[in-house]
Amino acid sequence: MSEGVERESMEYDVVIVGAGPSGLAAAIRLKQLAEAAGSEISVAVIEKGSEVGAHILSGAVIDPIALTELLPDWKELGAPLETPVTEDKFLLLGPQGSVTLPMFAMPGFMHNHGNYIASLGNVCRWLAQQAEAAGVEIYPGMAASEAVFDADGRLKGVVAGVFGINKDGEPGPDYQPGIELHGKYVFIGEGVRGSLAKQLKAKFGLSEKSQPEKYGIGLKELWQVPDAVFKPGLVQHTTGWPLDNNTGGGSFLYHFGDNYVAVGFVVHLNYKNPWLSPFDEFQRFKHHPEVAKHLQGGRRISYGARAISEGGLQSIPKMHFPGGVLLGDSAGLVNVPRIKGSHNAMKSGMLAAEAAFAAIQAGRAGDELVEYGEAFERSWVRKELNIVRNAKPMLSKYGTAVGGALGIFEMWTTSLTGGFSFFGTLKHGKSDAASTGLAKDYEPIVYPKPDGVLSFDKLSSVFLSNTNHDENQPAHLKLKDPAVPISENLPKYGEPARLYCPAGVYEVLYDEAGQNPKFQINFQNCVHCKTCDIKDPSQNINWTTPQGGDGPNYPNM
Ligand SMILES: Cc1cc2nc3c(=O)[nH]c(=O)nc-3n(C[C@H](O)[C@H](O)[C@H](O)COP(=O)(O)OP(=O)(O)OC[C@H]3O[C@@H](n4cnc5c(N)ncnc54)[C@H](O)[C@@H]3O)c2cc1C
Ligand code: SF4
Repeated sequence: MSEGVERESMEYDVVIVGAGPSGLAAAIRLKQLAEAAGSEISVAVIEKGSEVGAHILSGAVIDPIALTELLPDWKELGAPLETPVTEDKFLLLGPQGSVTLPMFAMPGFMHNHGNYIASLGNVCRWLAQQAEAAGVEIYPGMAASEAVFDADGRLKGVVAGVFGINKDGEPGPDYQPGIELHGKYVFIGEGVRGSLAKQLKAKFGLSEKSQPEKYGIGLKELWQVPDAVFKPGLVQHTTGWPLDNNTGGGSFLYHFGDNYVAVGFVVHLNYKNPWLSPFDEFQRFKHHPEVAKHLQGGRRISYGARAISEGGLQSIPKMHFPGGVLLGDSAGLVNVPRIKGSHNAMKSGMLAAEAAFAAIQAGRAGDELVEYGEAFERSWVRKELNIVRNAKPMLSKYGTAVGGALGIFEMWTTSLTGGFSFFGTLKHGKSDAASTGLAKDYEPIVYPKPDGVLSFDKLSSVFLSNTNHDENQPAHLKLKDPAVPISENLPKYGEPARLYCPAGVYEVLYDEAGQNPKFQINFQNCVHCKTCDIKDPSQNINWTTPQGGDGPNYPNM
């Protein structure tokens, strides 16, 4: 905390951290409500990306249910959801072959007809235009780096826009102390593993009654392919190879827009083998004939990675606390079997907006928006998450084959009975960090070399994420104890940060004699996926915000 620093402050009715679907939907709803009531409401949205969308990475097949509630005329308004799903496939992959699972075996909510394939980054850019047209103030390139509390310990705002701190942590010649943005209510829509959300959950004990949060890492590439292989509207999901039965995950592949194929791979972060590299699993996955044929003759134009919330209903923390609320993925609202969270994120933003607007109209400020929690309990988001609540614990407990089959049976049962399950509500067990096994108990994995056509190395991949961090600032990846990577993680786990980080940020370097290992953090490469904050087995890495505007610059992910 930067105590003693003098800063100017700006007052708003509502301050929203994060211009993702949750934050932007909240902002638009607040303005709609004010207009309908003939009153005013001031709303500021803070975004750490250099522009709205720069840090957004998603699939994305979008269920338009929330968008239709928010802006029923989204088609006329030109929302970039231009590719309706036309074909929906689910494959179980083996090393060479595959088995197609018939879609009729899946409950209806797993089908994708009626959904749209899009770049979520572009959807957010468009939502930001709608918000600005309604009078919302959006500040991209500003990281909310600290929470600000009032004398009673209630969240009253955030510090944003601190620039120019030198590598040594001292103010440099271009130092700007930032400003405090105060709100009657502060919405935290930072997405998965938000850095402020993490602090607020700890301060207010928000996760005390919920299961550990669970996550996956999602890696994605955007390709542009020739007409001969382009099948607009095709959605393909896979499970199985190259992951073994005890390592959860799967892939997505979507044809959309201007001859684009979005191809992505998710590995559940409760994997045990510390030698596993999600990046290299993704690269070899693309060589499977059922994947390679979709990329043939194409060109990779973008790369990135982002963690994805997988805890579901059991892991949702308390979503409100004095002065603020958690939205979207900051509360873990992703429906894992559907690999969809953007519609739930938007709806949560709308529900929070409705609760905050009513409270502000009633003259309240800085208290707990319990009405938001109550509205969430009654919402279709909760119903949807309730139906799939056991899918992820089943995969973790019984493996991909048995757990997957049980999961389908379970989802039929819950969807036909409105939520009843023979299994009750299963627990998740250990955190993802604690699930990591010891290096001595596993064989190191030798990954094939990339061929430069379908598969690539990490550094040329990070190049395509347009990631940039001012080098003259302190590393935003903070080690609680700098000795731990070499003294604990290396002997016990082979220092898995080298492997799980999708951007080559962490390295263990040796001297010429192969001795004296040294841990190096190339923070400039960080794509803000948050995996290290989640998976480090010693929980020694704390992801904090770098200077605003730094990080990836995804064009259309
Ligand atoms: C690989 C992958 C595939 C997915 N596929 C799909 C799919 O096909 N369909 C679907 O519906 N969902 C999908 N999802 C999930 C979906 O992307 C999320 O549920 C959704 O983006 C959550 O929205 P959000 O607003 O909560 O957070 P986000 O979309 O993550 O947005 C958060 C924003 O807050 C900003 N931010 C964070 N911290 C700060 C800070 N301290 N200061 C300022 N700004 C900050 C970030 O830069 C970001 O712009 C996928 C996710 C992944 C990772
Ligand atoms: S340093 Fe951490 S947050 Fe950054 S890319 Fe690597 S794993 Fe992701």
